[in-house]
This record gives sequence, structure tokens and C-alpha cells, in this order.
Amino acid sequence: MTIISHETPQKIVDLASRLEKGDRRALAQAITLVESVRADHRRDAQSLLSMILPETGKSVRIGVSGTPGVGKSTFIEVFGKHLTKNGHKVAVLTVDPSSKRTGGSILGDKTRMEELVRDKNAFIRPSPSGGSLGGVARRTREAMLLCEAAGFDVVLIETVGVGQSETTVAEMVDVFMLLLAPAGGDELQGIKRGVMELADLVIINKADGNLKTTARRAAMEYKGAIGLMRPKSKYWTPEVLMISALQKQGIDTLWETIGRFREARGKEGELETQRREQAVAWMWAELSDSLLSRLKAHPAVTEQLPVLESQVKAGEIDPTVAAEQLLNSFLGK
Ligand code: GDP
Repeated sequence: MTIISHETPQKIVDLASRLEKGDRRALAQAITLVESVRADHRRDAQSLLSMILPETGKSVRIGVSGTPGVGKSTFIEVFGKHLTKNGHKVAVLTVDPSSKRTGGSILGDKTRMEELVRDKNAFIRPSPSGGSLGGVARRTREAMLLCEAAGFDVVLIETVGVGQSETTVAEMVDVFMLLLAPAGGDELQGIKRGVMELADLVIINKADGNLKTTARRAAMEYKGAIGLMRPKSKYWTPEVLMISALQKQGIDTLWETIGRFREARGKEGELETQRREQAVAWMWAELSDSLLSRLKAHPAVTEQLPVLESQVKAGEIDPTVAAEQLLNSFLGK
């Protein structure tokens, strides 16, 4: 069922209907539309999103974080193939504010996820390029909704684990997984506590060959570390798993674990509550982003800004006073 508003242009109605039939070209086009910053495109994008909203929310939303080199792309390729073989439709999106995408390249590097790229039941879309983390994340979240409307029942959102991007991704998914390479001791200390606290699942990759022993030791250490943290959920304590993406080991156990996670957190509607809270948080993020960009574009503000900034820099005016003055100009006071 779709809700059609009277002002919605016919081309958007058509796009929505092709999208809901699972047309991949329509999906790609729709994502390009939501990524556009042009005012008329934004309006069309919002009409499109309102139309497809009833068809969203039906996927398992999974976040995958890990520093470069831990094996994210190897893992996503293997995990994705495992899922499509079992009848799932998998979308892979990325949040990477540092990405400088050039038109058409896939995740910057064409050799990434070679098999998955060719899989008819998989859809891979790199991070929108440029812009703030907030902007990139908003467009990724909208892309996720479009993938859901197009019938993808598993959405993987990958992040490279720089800055705040893990928190941002954790705020848009049901289950957040932290991918790590075998190491222990000092390296364990090096992982930001905040990131560990976000993880519902800690996955130690490369548990193969002569890294197996180190992987086991690391798993023990991470289990210990998790034991000291307060769990996010009443029904789920984060688990540590060992896998080898290269040797395709532990992948089925991982998917089963995600199933157990969803079952456990489905109790008393915990997962549903999380999604509702995420939606409200997104509304606020959206509001502060757009308020700020409107403020910055306001003529009265742009006129005063250079002077006030240099006065603040020179210590001639208090930052709070300058901010108040700009706000008042914006509000026409
Ligand atoms: P990303 O930067 O996190 O996407 O990592 P990649 O998937 O590109 O992998 C980085 C390197 O680790 C590559 O040389 C992979 O072949 C290797 N690698 C990935 N998964 C495994 C694994 O399970 N075991 C071993 N031994 N190497 C792996």
C-alpha cells in the first residue's frame, strides 16, 4: 500500500512503483535522488520516501564496523553470498564520510566483493561522497529504507571505524557487529571502550592457520572485557565469535547467532522500541542539521559572520555573545 499525495509528480509515483517491484535500476535511481542536495530533488526525494514508508522496516538491519585490514570486504562478500544462497536478498551500504567516490566505481575499489557485485540478489552501494558525517548518514539511512521497499530483507551497513561513524551506524541498525583481527593485550586496550559498548556481537576474524591460537586468546580477553560492561539489553549479553572469512568458517553460526539475538530482543518488543527511539533521534538530528544549514545560509547571518568570527578570534567579543547575536539575526529579532 502506498500513500499518494496530490502534489507528488507522476515520475515519482512511477519510480516508487518500479522500486516496489524490486527493479534494481529504479533502486539505484532512487538512491541517487535522495543523495542529491538540489532543492527540487530533495522535495521529490521526500515525496518518494513518504510513498514507500509503509513498505519499509521489514529487513534485518546489521551494522559492521572494523578498521581497514580486519577483513570487512572479505567477510561481507562471504556473509552476503551465504545469505543469498539461502534465499535472502542482501543490500550492502557504506558510511564513510572520508570517501571520495568517483562516478560508478564500486566502493572505490572494483576488486572488493567481486562475487557479490555480480549476484542478482545482492545490491551494493558505496557511501555518498563528501559532506559531514550527519549528511552522509542521513542519505545512507534513506537508502536503507529504499532497499527495504525494493524487497531486500537483509541490509548490511559497513563503516570504516573512524571518528563517530560507529555510533552513527549503531543508531540506524538492529544489531551492531564489531569485526576484529586476532590480537590481545595491548591491542585490546587500544580499542575505544565506547566502541566495545556499542557492540552486540564481537567477531574475531582470521581465526585460521597460525592465527588461530591468538584468536582464541583474544576471544577470551574480549569475553572478559564484555563481562565487566553493563549490557544494553535486558535479554541479550554481547557474544564473542570466531570466524574465518577467508576459509568461510563460522558464517552459519554467526547467522544463527543473529537469529537468537533478534528473538531475545524481540521479547517485550525491545527491538521495536529501539527502532522507534532511533526514528525520533533521527528526526532531531535532521532538525538540527537543517536548522544549522538554514541559519548559515541566512543573508543576515552571512553578512555578519566574517566580522563576528574575526572578533571572536581576536578575543574582542565573547563567543556566547556572538552566537546569541547571530541567532537573533536569524530569528529576525
Ligand atoms: P578490509 O580493509 O577490512 O575490507 O579488509 P579486506 O577484506 O580487504 O582484507 C584485508 C586482508 O586480510 C586481505 O589480505 C585478506 O585476504 C585478509 N583476510 C580477510 N579475511 C581473512 C581471514 O579470515 N583469514 C586470513 N588469514 N586473512 C584474511
